[in-house]
Amino acid sequence: MPKTVKAFNLSEMIENPSRFTSPVLDQRELAAGLFELTFDRPAFSFRTGDEIQIYGSEPGQDRPYTIASGEKDPYLQILYRLIPDGALTPQLAGLREGDPISFTGPFGNFHLRDPGRPAVFVATGTGIAPAVSFARTYPDLELYLLHGVRLRQDLCFAECFAPARYHPCISRETVPGLFHGRVTDRFPALSFPDDADFFLCGANDMIVAMTAFLKERGIADARISGEAYYWWR
Ligand SMILES: Cc1cc2nc3c(=O)[nH]c(=O)nc-3n(C[C@H](O)[C@H](O)[C@H](O)COP(=O)(O)OP(=O)(O)OC[C@H]3O[C@@H](n4cnc5c(N)ncnc54)[C@H](O)[C@@H]3O)c2cc1C
Repeated sequence: MPKTVKAFNLSEMIENPSRFTSPVLDQRELAAGLFELTFDRPAFSFRTGDEIQIYGSEPGQDRPYTIASGEKDPYLQILYRLIPDGALTPQLAGLREGDPISFTGPFGNFHLRDPGRPAVFVATGTGIAPAVSFARTYPDLELYLLHGVRLRQDLCFAECFAPARYHPCISRETVPGLFHGRVTDRFPALSFPDDADFFLCGANDMIVAMTAFLKERGIADARISGEAYYWWR
């Protein structure tokens, strides 16, 4: 299995001074095909919601991943789904403790605007990663989460969210006591504080549909942020 490491050289470092290589600290399969990867944090600061670009073993295989750890955590963590015929995620899944991982960053503008205001987060799949970082960075944040997954096994990090503000939605199996359907089916029946900011992350079609719902409710564009991870269902 190829590893995602490339040796440093001086010209590369001058061209891109923010390139890092860190040892993997832990790799966990949270559910079939859903992984949490933890690696050493270099001396950089980031804002919750930022992503890093992880290098693949070949050109064209680099992909962005949101940092799921908190701003003050001593390590970096990402959450990813293995795409068996994908370019990078099979390489990530082959990493073991002590293996090197190369990345650059941090980048992004999917930031919490004001931790003193409520935040409503709507995520599909691994799009929950920035919400986890928000919760870890600001434990007192009034954070609401609608998390859409296909199967119950894919619900993760529930412990980061207050039960009364946590709304899991499962689309491909019926689980007693849990909502059956997509986040877009669940959202219309819920109400949120008037001064909340909205964060939409994951599948692009969900972001488009949710943006339309929010506009119908009169939410200003400036209070809606979207981060599309993928463009398919
Ligand atoms: C700003 C940003 C942040 C991101 N953060 C995360 C993150 O935190 N966690 C995360 O898991 N992903 C994240 N992504 C997506 C990630 O960058 C990769 O696209 C994803 O991991 C697939 O990479 P791959 O190289 O294995 O597959 P690719 O080689 O890119 O894809 C191979 C094929 O699989 C399809 N495919 C890819 N992903 C899926 C999927 N989930 N379901 C079904 N088919 C798929 C593609 O359409 C393509 O046809 C983010 C994307 C963006 C733009």
